[in-house]
Amino acid sequence: MAEERKAYGILKLRETWVVSEATHASMVSNRSKDTRPEQALRKALWADGLRGYRKNVSRLPGRPDVVYGRARLAVFVHGCFWHGCPLCGRRRIPKTNRAYWEAKFAQNAERDARNKAALEAAGYRVLVLWECQLRGDGLRECVRAVREALGR
Ligand SMILES: [Zn+2]
Repeated sequence: MAEERKAYGILKLRETWVVSEATHASMVSNRSKDTRPEQALRKALWADGLRGYRKNVSRLPGRPDVVYGRARLAVFVHGCFWHGCPLCGRRRIPKTNRAYWEAKFAQNAERDARNKAALEAAGYRVLVLWECQLRGDGLRECVRAVREALGR
């Protein structure tokens, strides 16, 4: 639990850097492949017996964070800031370089939609979980959502 809280602290800090620095371009390209909310989800899925997934499957559109191949289920854990979470309103557009950020966020949303459509065309169901949904007790709900989607 302490580790989890720490992880969100890091994410928050990272956003703060991005917002306040002109170095956002390099931050964008340095995004971690294995960010903490995804790890928390995988760990919880594993502990709950929902095993047999693969992670960061790069041959699939958008490189889903968790993929159950046989069940044809692709799960994304989206960062609230980058992907424009509709739930928690963390999409606060930074005051400087507003146009840049608006374009950037629009691009991200477009790419997410494109990836989802491509996955569905390939016969996958797509489950999107938001970083804020994974917090605290929410993690349990997310595991339940995956379980339901798997029909287990
Ligand atoms: Zn959110």
